[in-house]
Formats: sequence, structure tokens, C-alpha cells
Amino acid sequence: MKILLNNNSLFKSLRPFNDIGFVPTMGSIHEGHLSLIDRSNKTCKKTIVSIFVNPKQFNNKKDFKNYPTNIKEDIKILKKTKKVDFLYIPKFKDLYSNNKKSNIKITKKDKVLCAKYRKGHFEGVLDVMGRLTNLVNPKKIFMGKKDYQQYFLIKNYLKNKYKTSIIPCRTIRNKSKMALSSRNNHLDLYGIKKASFLSKSLIKLKRNLKNSKKIKKNLRIKMKYFEKLLKIKIEYLELRSIKNLKISNNIRDSRLFVAYYIDNIRLIDNF
Ligand code: AMP
Repeated sequence: MKILLNNNSLFKSLRPFNDIGFVPTMGSIHEGHLSLIDRSNKTCKKTIVSIFVNPKQFNNKKDFKNYPTNIKEDIKILKKTKKVDFLYIPKFKDLYSNNKKSNIKITKKDKVLCAKYRKGHFEGVLDVMGRLTNLVNPKKIFMGKKDYQQYFLIKNYLKNKYKTSIIPCRTIRNKSKMALSSRNNHLDLYGIKKASFLSKSLIKLKRNLKNSKKIKKNLRIKMKYFEKLLKIKIEYLELRSIKNLKISNNIRDSRLFVAYYIDNIRLIDNF
């Protein structure tokens, strides 16, 4: 695994290759990231992973400062997989030196779920993903369905600009069904138990949902119920179409999207 610390070494190292699989991350590598790497390794000739905690996508400065980082451990884990050919760890200036102001705007119809609650977040995500794609020029980018709205917006944003295809990959969960996430590192055992309980309950709830005009109303009642029971704050609990992320009354081709806070840690998932 070759570590690339600036754009010069990135260009030099990638130039000979055109079948490149790319796994962009913010580090604190876990099994979720490793599943994307595995997919890339099986599909593409070369796999490149990036680690960059992008300040522009954090709508909350404290959240950025507290984002878990552990680059030494990450390098160790990634090396051990023997599936990563290149690890790109850019500095801020490697991505933003051209200083071109981005004019990315999330349209009104897309301002739902996290885009509604995290102002400027996806504008920052799309900006950095455009820059990374431009530099790495991958054939395929592997992304987790855990962050479904992120996958959905990036796919639509990149599709007219680059030939790169975006490959959605399944969500990796722990034994008690909680989705793996770097943010889980901030939870104590009690927090993990609450998140696991909620995940199991929402899997069951999704399974038992019946098509009905009342789904939206029923989900609001469930949301209040879980908030009270677990003493947590739920930002949204909504059934939406996976095709366009519109509110859905039909369980086919729809997923149950949730964002919630446990001890001020914001977690998202979908079922
Ligand atoms: P992050 O480092 O959190 O920005 O995530 C980098 C990539 O890993 C994104 O495409 C995420 O959707 C994906 N990812 C994060 N958690 C999981 C998970 N539990 N299962 C599968 N993919 C994941």
C-alpha cells in the first residue's frame, strides 16, 4: 500500500492505471469501510482509499473538532487488508488550492432529511466529491447505503460531469443490528444499547408496515414513543422512495429513514 500525501505523488502513481476503484472516507476505519474496499478490490484492478475530514461539510464547528481521527491505526488496518493499493491523505490545500468558489446549491425538492436539518452539509459534500473525483479520476466510486441520501445526491451530481459510476454497497451492522459508524466511538455502553434497541425496533417496524395513507402520521406517533422510551431526540423518521427520496405511502421501493441524537451524538440509518 503506497501512501500518497500530496497531489504530485497522486498523479504520478495513478497515471499508468485506468481501472481504478475509489473509496472516499473520513477515516476511523471500520468494517463498513472495509466492505467497500473489498468490493472495489474484487471489481477494479487498483483500489485507492482517501482519508480526509472535510471541514466544509460540517455545519457545526464542534462536531468537526470532535470528529474521531486515528490515522496511525487506520494505516495499520488498511495495510493489513492487503486490498488497498493506494492511500491518499490530502491536505486542505491539495483539494482547495484553486480557491474556486463553489456555486453548488441543493434544490428545494432535495432539501429533505439531512439536507433539511444540516444546513450547507451536502453542498460541502458535493464540492469535495467533485474535487476528489477530478483528481483521482476513478472508474468506480464505492459508497455505503447507510448514508443513502449522500449516495443519491453524489450520484446525481457526478453523473453529468464525469464518466465515473457510483456503486452503492450494503450497510454493515454489528451483532445487535446497529450500523457501524465512526461516530459510534463517542457512545458509551448505554448509548450503544439504546441505538441497538432502536435499530432492531425499526427493522421490525419496517417489516410490519402496511401500505396506507396514514404511514406518515403513524411514524410521527412511533417517533414520539421511541423518544420517550429511550430518552433520545429523533430528528426525523420517514418512509421515502429510494428513487427520488419523496415521502412514500408504499413500502415497495421505499426505505425508513431515521436521524437521532444520543448524548448529543448525531446518528443516521435507513431500513
Ligand atoms: P465516512 O468515513 O463516514 O465518511 O464513510 C465513508 C464511506 O463509508 C461512505 O460511503 C459511507 O456510506 C460508508 N459507510 C459508513 N458506514 C458504513 C457501514 N456501516 N456500512 C457500509 N458502508 C458504510
